[in-house]
Amino acid sequence: MNPETVTVADKTFKMMISAETISTRIKVLGEQINQDFADQKPVLIGILNGCFLFMADLVKEINIPCEIAFMKVSSYHGGMESKRVITEDYDLKMDVSGRNLIVVEDIVDTGNTMRFISDKLAARNPASVNVAALLYKPDAMEQDLELKYVAFEIENKFVVGYGLDYKGLGRNLNEIYQVVL
Ligand code: 5GP
Repeated sequence: MNPETVTVADKTFKMMISAETISTRIKVLGEQINQDFADQKPVLIGILNGCFLFMADLVKEINIPCEIAFMKVSSYHGGMESKRVITEDYDLKMDVSGRNLIVVEDIVDTGNTMRFISDKLAARNPASVNVAALLYKPDAMEQDLELKYVAFEIENKFVVGYGLDYKGLGRNLNEIYQVVL
């Protein structure tokens, strides 16, 4: 049995989304991408670090030809507050002009990070830029962004697990947990 509550660093978190529910939902997103991008050879661009489990599980559900790439940006710096300053740590190493891009992100909170990434990619003349987000906090959103694929809409509370961290810890949890304040 998975624990109902976990301690990560100095905070307690309660189970919010089970591993089974995550897996079932990702299968659905994968099927949608297979249909929407058949014959388009999309490039899935994972945003490190938080995307790594979602990206891996999503890609396993995609059975059309596709390429995989990564970028790394920092906005939270390990705490619970969203930073307005976004720093780019690792840029794409491929030419994406004329390509259909799917940005794979762990969570869209204020949307500032996704705005930064989308604008950066759009400047490179891709055929299209779409977003696949594991989690989306609609109440925190500050940007006018279209999120084509969202696995789960959640409350505006801090979460960890399944790739997402708190103070660098908790990424290895198989479920998603919400902070208990
Ligand atoms: P945004 O720019 O949309 O406010 O934040 C995006 C980034 O902040 C995400 O990629 C993620 O790294 C981090 N983030 C936002 N909300 C949470 C959260 O609830 N938990 C964790 N661990 N990270 C979050």
